[in-house]
Amino acid sequence: MKIAILPGDGIGTEIVEQAVRVLNVLDLRFESETALVGGAAYEAHGHPLPESTLNLAKAADAVLFGAVGDWKYDKLERALRPEQAILGLRKHLGLFANFRPALCYEQLTHASSLKPELVAGLDILIIRELTGDIYFGQPRGRRTAVDGHFPGAEEAFDTMRYSRPEIERIAHVAFQAARKRHKKVTSVDKANVLETFQFWKDVVTEVHAQYPDVELEHMYVDNAAMQLVRAPKKFDVVVTGNMFGDILSDEAAMLTGSIGMLPSASLDKNGKGLYEPSHGSAPDIAGKGVANPLATILSAAMMLRFSLNQGAAADRIESAVQAVLAAGLRTADIWSEGTQRVGTREMGDAVVASLAGKAIGKTITTKS
Ligand code: NAD
Repeated sequence: MKIAILPGDGIGTEIVEQAVRVLNVLDLRFESETALVGGAAYEAHGHPLPESTLNLAKAADAVLFGAVGDWKYDKLERALRPEQAILGLRKHLGLFANFRPALCYEQLTHASSLKPELVAGLDILIIRELTGDIYFGQPRGRRTAVDGHFPGAEEAFDTMRYSRPEIERIAHVAFQAARKRHKKVTSVDKANVLETFQFWKDVVTEVHAQYPDVELEHMYVDNAAMQLVRAPKKFDVVVTGNMFGDILSDEAAMLTGSIGMLPSASLDKNGKGLYEPSHGSAPDIAGKGVANPLATILSAAMMLRFSLNQGAAADRIESAVQAVLAAGLRTADIWSEGTQRVGTREMGDAVVASLAGKAIGKTITTKS
């Protein structure tokens, strides 16, 4: 097993360090190699995704990724901005299915902005298509309008498109994932307005014929956004396109209390994947040692389960995270009265201690 480790920028380096410590304590046999990506790679090599980093990611069985980006790169031309690294990796590795579980831990129900009874026990999985939709459709650009409400005015345009195979493969992924869960898929579209999403709905319905044991419901995206805050526990697997998935997965993230708790996986057709926390590089707290490393640690668990066939080790990490929360340890983003505030490293120490069978509290050296 070979893991490419790409910490990236901002809090990326701090949180990935903790995830690597957790992997190392598990006594698994794997090789790992670390490389620069994002703004850090731009500073060193003039490009956010240097060829050496891309080749390392291609050769590995899985990629553990931190986060990229910083406001200081906002003025760079788009192709050189740190965020292009993640788009490049998705494209070159053929990553088309983004898994974002939104799980509300019992101890954190009060950290959610919704009433505890709405989120207690929440366990939903958002599957976002990653390669198509309006984010990549051509043509796109700026021009002078020849028609519309203001002919002759400057305008910008993008193209929303999905091909049949793109929809079929993500639909199969969703139905197969639902089979391992509560056997329900909600396909989110905007078929009442958009041709692309009428086609999406038709193709998902056709694929469903191969999964009679799974329930399928269709929901318009505006209603899905509403239902996610009204009755989120009614969902099991949600499958949707690139743009709707981008928005809904962030909404679902907040149901669980903090984006610092949420892992994600982006998979290719063979199960190789890139694993990263759902959040960004958080420049506002970078270098302060306060970032929550649990989303990255849980991403490492997803990596063991999905790409490295180490489900038992993944279970152990998830149990250790539960134990640490049960012991009352909290980083600032999830802290509440009566719990113990710890930093990034101390949270990592605690997960490592739990995995090693040691008392969690004994490892804590800093309090605030
Ligand atoms: P962000 O996710 O980095 O931060 C949003 C808020 O959440 C901030 O207040 C931050 O402090 C907090 N936060 C995020 N992760 C946290 C953690 N682990 N623990 C505690 N608090 C945490 O989003 P943003 O501020 O919109 O973007 C910052 C940079 O990250 C931008 O350059 C953006 O382009 C980039 N970004 C990168 C990725 C990626 O690498 N996949 C994803 C999203 C944003």
